[in-house]
Amino acid sequence: MTTAVRFRGVSRHFGNVKAVDRVDLEVAPSEFFAMLGPSGSGKTTCLRLIAGFEQPTSGEIEIFGAESSRVPPYRRPVNTVFQDYALFPHLSVTENVAYGLMIKGLGKAERRRAAEEALELVALPGYGGRKPSDLSGGQRQRVALARALVNKPKVLLLDEPLGALDLKLREAMQEELKTLQRQLGITFVFVTHDQGEALSMADRVAVFDQGKIQQIGSPEDIYDRPDTPFVADFVGSSNVLHPELVRKLTGKSAHASLRPEAIRLTSEGPAATVQSCAFLGSATRVSLDWDGEQVAVLLPKGAEIPVPGQTVHLSWEADALYLMEGANG
Ligand code: ATP
Repeated sequence: MTTAVRFRGVSRHFGNVKAVDRVDLEVAPSEFFAMLGPSGSGKTTCLRLIAGFEQPTSGEIEIFGAESSRVPPYRRPVNTVFQDYALFPHLSVTENVAYGLMIKGLGKAERRRAAEEALELVALPGYGGRKPSDLSGGQRQRVALARALVNKPKVLLLDEPLGALDLKLREAMQEELKTLQRQLGITFVFVTHDQGEALSMADRVAVFDQGKIQQIGSPEDIYDRPDTPFVADFVGSSNVLHPELVRKLTGKSAHASLRPEAIRLTSEGPAATVQSCAFLGSATRVSLDWDGEQVAVLLPKGAEIPVPGQTVHLSWEADALYLMEGANG
């Protein structure tokens, strides 16, 4: 089957800044693909390269099998939903949604029908006459989505589309987006710095750091089997244990990831000293000094909470300690 988006050795440099540095990736048709990474890691630049707003310094990008370097943005089978929505304030919701179709030269009745269909898709039927200023943040987000979907793109690019929403609305929109993506079967490429968002929505996640992809895999892969200390730390704030400590535990000298929620405080096992405890609501986070290493433990509600200065003993299931033998970072 044709790949939806393929990067072959793609770089984009701005002067000395390697915003994107020799990236290879393949996104499958109908896949929900997340690009996850800290601010400045190159995610947005990758999205802009797919959209055609940027050109690679080197390398090739294919979209559904077509080499895209000479294809201008408006001729690509791609639409973008921006974080700030970029709606036209003076146009009504319908006019905003139908704008792309007007540019394409579709007649008024056809535009209106397509816009209404798209608004229905995002659960905003009947809102067409309003101005963006008369909508809530979540509703504006949906209009931006409808405006992209009305063009029936093969690939929808979403740049932190939920960043401006409060937590509850964001979680609701995460589910809606995922449902919509399944229903439409469109390829989604979704940029976020929020690991929870990437893990909960994506089929596969690419973890970016300094213009490079550190790991591509399913949410379970990158959470449970991180390739590098960076991925372990960035995805779910895991404890990254130093090779020396890991050697004492396993006989092998390598970095290892040990998730805070995988550690239990018991009566035997390696000893550590409690430094502080923080109540998080559904759990308590305990910071420990373990052989000079800072380690976090997440205790479920109802567990006995130790006090600072106390010596505790740690245990975990054998497979919870994941050795990153290929990593040298
Ligand atoms: P954020 O989440 O903050 O948007 P990001 O991971 O999307 O970050 P990019 O926006 O892709 O990161 O930026 C990657 C790097 O490239 C940054 O160091 C940024 O300053 C730089 N950069 C991006 N666009 C330009 C530009 N037009 N000119 C110069 N430098 C740029």
